[in-house]
Amino acid sequence: MASITGKVVLITGGSRGIGAATARLAAQAGFRVCISYHSAQGAAEGVVDAIRRSGGQALAVSCDVADESDIVALFEAVDREFGRLDALVNNAGVLELQSRVEHMQAARLQRIFATNVTGSFICAREAIKRMSTRHGGQGGVIVNLSSIASRLGAPAEYVDYAASKAAIDTLTIGLAKEVAAEGIRVNAVRPGVIDTEIHASGGEPGRVDRVKDSVPMLRGGQPEEVAQAVMWLLSAQSSYVAGAIIDVTGGR
Ligand code: NAP
Repeated sequence: MASITGKVVLITGGSRGIGAATARLAAQAGFRVCISYHSAQGAAEGVVDAIRRSGGQALAVSCDVADESDIVALFEAVDREFGRLDALVNNAGVLELQSRVEHMQAARLQRIFATNVTGSFICAREAIKRMSTRHGGQGGVIVNLSSIASRLGAPAEYVDYAASKAAIDTLTIGLAKEVAAEGIRVNAVRPGVIDTEIHASGGEPGRVDRVKDSVPMLRGGQPEEVAQAVMWLLSAQSSYVAGAIIDVTGGR
């Protein structure tokens, strides 16, 4: 990929999994990288240190994307450190323990939607304020992490999470049209079952092994395989792509 020297990307939830893989590839492509993390400061600093050792520029900032004031402070940290913003990857996302809908409490639903949906909206808002030509910006790119659960529904596992990702699909389609004439391209990547720690937080660390036979490619994906799709959407190679949702699912 051609070097993108000097451009700045903010990746939420970059301490591990798909976000960390995207941070590493973005730095290799020449981006200056800000990653946010929720609680795993050590892991986030590890991603930043590795980028710096390879000659890149990186910054890790603590931020709960369910908290609006945290998000505002995160973007202000990017302003202070790098002085510009060219791209946002709305990657931070959570699921709760596997459950049928009849056992779900309102507090659980509020946590899922506050993190996955409201957090992505507020991050997009802050990015648009900085990148939109309407606000004096130079344009930019937003990539949202959806999930193939938005199409499959995740029955008996986490219909709430699937519904939150359906909201991300719709955010992508609507926002892409809203800001396309202002120099901002908005797209989404919709991963299938990817080998990260998110499955442990759903109560089943071995989930990838259990479901892999239902994947046409008969395996789970690696975080880097999702990150490569994100990188293409961040790059000028996708210059006429807006409002697209790319499935990275091994054919699922
Ligand atoms: P992961 O390994 O669980 O990593 C989640 C990341 O999000 C971590 O960096 C975590 O920070 C951060 N995070 C969690 N809660 C947060 C909060 N409230 N505020 C800010 N950051 C928070 O997840 P992943 O598997 O890489 O998933 C990344 C994205 O892809 C998510 O949106 C997920 O829904 C989506 N996705 C994943 C899969 C899959 O199979 N893995 C499939 C489809 C879609 P800490 O490390 O500090 O906790």
